[in-house]
Amino acid sequence: MADEISKAQTARPGGDTICGKIIRKEILVNIIYEDDQCIAFHDVAPEAPTHFLMVLKKAISQLSEVEPAEDALLGHLMIVGKKCAADLGLVRGYRLVINEGPDGGQSVYHPHLHVLGRRQLGWPPG
Ligand code: AMP
Repeated sequence: MADEISKAQTARPGGDTICGKIIRKEILVNIIYEDDQCIAFHDVAPEAPTHFLMVLKKAISQLSEVEPAEDALLGHLMIVGKKCAADLGLVRGYRLVINEGPDGGQSVYHPHLHVLGRRQLGWPPG
């Protein structure tokens, strides 16, 4: 079983996460973009030649816990994600992914959008 999937099967919401540590700058990463609502940085274990994460700063555990009133936050994440993709030169396309819960392959319980590109991506995903 792929390492990420075994992590996702044991990961649970609650407590501090790697995303929280990165937001608080306790762990230093190569930041692509940051504002008061989100931060973007390259994934440490990329699944494509370009693979970065768009992370909400608000402490919510996962997509299913985002309230309807927070729709603008999710919209912001996608709008900034497409801008970062363009800035990084992903002119031939890319994919946005949100993994939700164990079956969705979520290993970090802090809402984030994966942006993957610079190779032909397969469908359906594994
Ligand atoms: P998910 O499995 O959808 O919750 O995504 C979590 C992602 O966080 C995975 O793709 C990991 O590779 C990535 N990740 C974990 N630790 C770090 C880190 N220190 N810096 C950057 N990305 C990380």
